[in-house]
Amino acid sequence: MPTPDPSRKRAGRRRAGSGEFVPASYERAMRPETLNPLFAETSGLKGVGPGLARPLERLGLTRLRDLAYHLPDRFVSRRAVADLDQASVGEQVVIALTPREYRSSPGRGPFRVLAEDAIGNICALTYFGRNGGWGKKQLPLGEKRWIAGRLDQYGQMLQIVHPDHVAEESGAALGQLVEPVYPLSEGLTQGRLAALVAQALAALPVLPEWIEPGLLAKMQWPDWKEAMVLAHRAEHAQARDRLAYDELLANALALMLVRAAGKARRGTPLQGDGQLRAKLQLPFALTGAQRRSIAEIEGDLAQAAPMLRLLQGDVGSGKTVVALSAMLIAVEAGAQAALLAPTEILARQHYDTLSQLLSGTGVSIALLTGRDKGKAREAILMGLLDGSIDMIVGTHAIFQESVTYRNLALAVIDEQHRFGVSQRLLLTQKGRRTPHCLAMTATPIPRTLTLAQYGEMNVSRLDELPPGRQAIDTRVVALERIGDVVGALARHVEGGGQAYWVCPMVRDSEVADIAAAEARFAELQARFGEDVVLVHGQLRPEAKDAAMARFAAGRAKLLVATTVIEVGVDVPNATLMVIEQAERFGLAQLHQLRGRVGRGAEKSVCLLLRGSALSEVGRERLALMRETQDGFLLAEEDLRLRGGGELLGTRQSGDTPFRVATLEQIARLLPIAHDDAHLLIERDGGLTGERGEAARLLLYLFERDYGVQLLRGG
Ligand code: ADP
Ligand code: MG
Repeated sequence: MPTPDPSRKRAGRRRAGSGEFVPASYERAMRPETLNPLFAETSGLKGVGPGLARPLERLGLTRLRDLAYHLPDRFVSRRAVADLDQASVGEQVVIALTPREYRSSPGRGPFRVLAEDAIGNICALTYFGRNGGWGKKQLPLGEKRWIAGRLDQYGQMLQIVHPDHVAEESGAALGQLVEPVYPLSEGLTQGRLAALVAQALAALPVLPEWIEPGLLAKMQWPDWKEAMVLAHRAEHAQARDRLAYDELLANALALMLVRAAGKARRGTPLQGDGQLRAKLQLPFALTGAQRRSIAEIEGDLAQAAPMLRLLQGDVGSGKTVVALSAMLIAVEAGAQAALLAPTEILARQHYDTLSQLLSGTGVSIALLTGRDKGKAREAILMGLLDGSIDMIVGTHAIFQESVTYRNLALAVIDEQHRFGVSQRLLLTQKGRRTPHCLAMTATPIPRTLTLAQYGEMNVSRLDELPPGRQAIDTRVVALERIGDVVGALARHVEGGGQAYWVCPMVRDSEVADIAAAEARFAELQARFGEDVVLVHGQLRPEAKDAAMARFAAGRAKLLVATTVIEVGVDVPNATLMVIEQAERFGLAQLHQLRGRVGRGAEKSVCLLLRGSALSEVGRERLALMRETQDGFLLAEEDLRLRGGGELLGTRQSGDTPFRVATLEQIARLLPIAHDDAHLLIERDGGLTGERGEAARLLLYLFERDYGVQLLRGG
């Protein structure tokens, strides 16, 4: 008997890593009992107190399933050394050190423990974002400890940042000499996480096989449970492939079930009279590509079958006015339209842009985000219910269960790759009829992936930029020349310009990234004073918005940020961008970032600061960035360059709906999964046969169980 899951009471939540928002309405699923151990909460594990709950949640590791799928980024081999003279910088070592002195930095800087080796060398053990109390307890002065970690250099000093292990004995506590390296968050260590993963692996059930037997044999893939264990133990290509394939198959199956269900639905044919569009006073003429896309959308909207169209257009290609035109058609036809954005910053910006364009048309537009509470929220909900609000812009708050529309006929989803299919499905429940859906993306998708990822949609492409855009002058500069860069920045700001400064995200530790961004911010602030603002992922939304608003209004000249600015910020006066350690970013990501400049008529410059240890591939990447601005080309090249597999798990930073599969695996395995899913549904559309039943488990496992719901006619 299936059981409802008591842990799923929340109103929907975001899973870290996958980027997919899981709407509350799809959490009522009755999950097969076999999977229950996997969905047990991590808070119930041995050794997990309140102190660990938050770091685990931040990584999206709330259930054992999440832990099992939290695969290592790579594996390290460590060397035990007698003293620091035997070790080299960059090496993973195990070494005995005796703490001698504590050093706290002012403000939010790191806490350091200076420790001595057997022959009197000093090494700093450095902790970001941690108060000294913790370090003092782990590393009492004068008592020898065994430390495992990566030896780095900081100025003149040797240091180990966030040691992976600290133990009193040199024995088993230090782990094997080959160890998995997991993505971490503040408050977690590799050792701690490895112990939790081990508990999760011990609880794995045996599951029936959903992969077609012929394929399994041909690929020499292990069964699911074995693949899990192997993937955590060592580099094991078949195990990793199998787990990735599972995810891709689940996704393909869900997409096909959605498409089948969508075909059976009815929407409202929308025919606008053009009146509102005529009142719209655009400060520019539409490009040919914009006009063509609008015509395609208009054609779809006139049909009774709900539109499912993807608008693909590079950053700055002008998707917003296309969306606005579509929304106006809906309003002209007497219905409501909604625009969903992935972040509050972006929702607010869209709202401001659209309100301005709409002034004088009589169209009423409102903004709703998760932050709106009480009376303000009530008023908006009322307006949506009685139809006095024509257009709503917001985050996922606009599709919560408590929000009821009088007549929602069109939903536009911006940066669609940030949302999952489940989001779109939730939309389809919002009107009496299924609303038309326009999804937009600026992520140029390599051709090999388009069909498999968006197979169920029609596509309009904005393949022409608005006129007058100048190419962005992109240069690669060595990090050592940062002084010159700051000088150029000063001249730029003095001349009235604005600029972005992007700090890198390193996967192993978000806190360390933020600490680095804060340090850079402090340095720039010392030089530029009030002109600088800082934005990163751990700021409170109010603080983030306030900083963004200052920058957008031109009161702040310099925006220092981690990659949170990647999506959608539009400040035409910002014509200089500095990207620090650019080699750490993927091409597609660099392209997105660079797209923040070059938005006005002014000439824009993008400076890619590179570190000294640049690989061949890294060099090639940066050269490409300099040479081309074609997002589709960059996406193809990104895939080709990653194909070599520099790293074991080049995890995607939210560019794909996948959490396990890497870009390279997607390109190689998704076409197979796609065909396989097709065959399975052709033979067993209700998923009732033996393999069909197993496939249902798979859908639950990857939380694509809305597919199963649709099968039940939900
Ligand atoms: P994106 O596709 O990245 O969402 P936007 O819709 O934000 O792009 O448009 C980028 C900028 O280009 C905006 O400032 C917008 O006003 C401007 N723009 C859009 N269409 C045109 C056009 N046809 N001619 C000139 N400027 C345009
Ligand atoms: Mg946009």
